[in-house]
Amino acid sequence: MSGSPCLLCGGPRSPLHLRVSDPETGEEFGIERCKVCGTAATVPAPLNLGPYYASAYHGGRHGLTARLCARRRLRRLRSLVPPGKGRRLLDVGCGDGAFLLAARDQGYDTTGTERDPGPPGRHGLRVLPGLDAAAAEAPFDAITLWHVFEHLEDPREALSAIRSLLPDGGILLLAVPNLGSLQARIFGRRWFHLDVPRHLWHYTRATLESLLAQAGFTPVRRWRHEWEYDLFGWSQSALDSLGGTPRTFFRLLTGKPVRTGPLLRLVHLAAGALLTVLAAPAALIEWTLGRGGTIVLAAAATRGGGPGPPRAGCSSP
Ligand SMILES: [Zn+2]
Repeated sequence: MSGSPCLLCGGPRSPLHLRVSDPETGEEFGIERCKVCGTAATVPAPLNLGPYYASAYHGGRHGLTARLCARRRLRRLRSLVPPGKGRRLLDVGCGDGAFLLAARDQGYDTTGTERDPGPPGRHGLRVLPGLDAAAAEAPFDAITLWHVFEHLEDPREALSAIRSLLPDGGILLLAVPNLGSLQARIFGRRWFHLDVPRHLWHYTRATLESLLAQAGFTPVRRWRHEWEYDLFGWSQSALDSLGGTPRTFFRLLTGKPVRTGPLLRLVHLAAGALLTVLAAPAALIEWTLGRGGTIVLAAAATRGGGPGPPRAGCSSP
């Protein structure tokens, strides 16, 4: 069975997974991998993704892990772009604004983008509706995409737009699920981080770095994990493989509505907690092998095509 041509390179694609279920709607999708560039895509890609986001991202992260997550991401950013007056940061797909707020507290001049700029705006954050709108604010010293790049319909176009917002040497910092991870290999079509159809693209370190190179970026730092994403990747994928209502453990911990009764909730919580503890050694093994559930990468803008010299008179929100 041969698939549709690759949207990135035109190469032929073949099925990687069939019948991957959307845990939110129950609809099934496929995942095809390009035989030439190796990039994997969700098929068919919905023409209108709006309904698939309607329920998926309600609720929020647990307070403690959200804070630890923001702190870790800031530490990684600071190691490459130290905060300081006029240091300009753009967070693409800023969600509830937790990372932007933490970055602003550290002294960065922050801007975010989000499909619906409502909630972060309440914290006085500058949030724009997309990359096009961010062009008026360029250049930025750093641009971050935390688990956002895999959601973008045209990754090449997005990288080109991002490149145009950075001066030469500007830093792009991004995290995506790792299709080349041990957990992705073991759980196959039931891997938690496939998240079809919201994840339109599925990357390995090699396919991601190849795309970045084509867009004029050179990797300058690689990290092996985002530990809470990786642990959930193991425990929730294992739970979903055992049966029951998909994602219940994840939904309970993140305050999202669940469709099961109180007794089953307790079962999911207990089993999820146990599996998360048991997942720790598995995660350590995949991190050691460089095949963790998340790819975190910093890349520097290396070629021409940037926005030119930095703008004078930067303003803080
Ligand atoms: Zn391709």
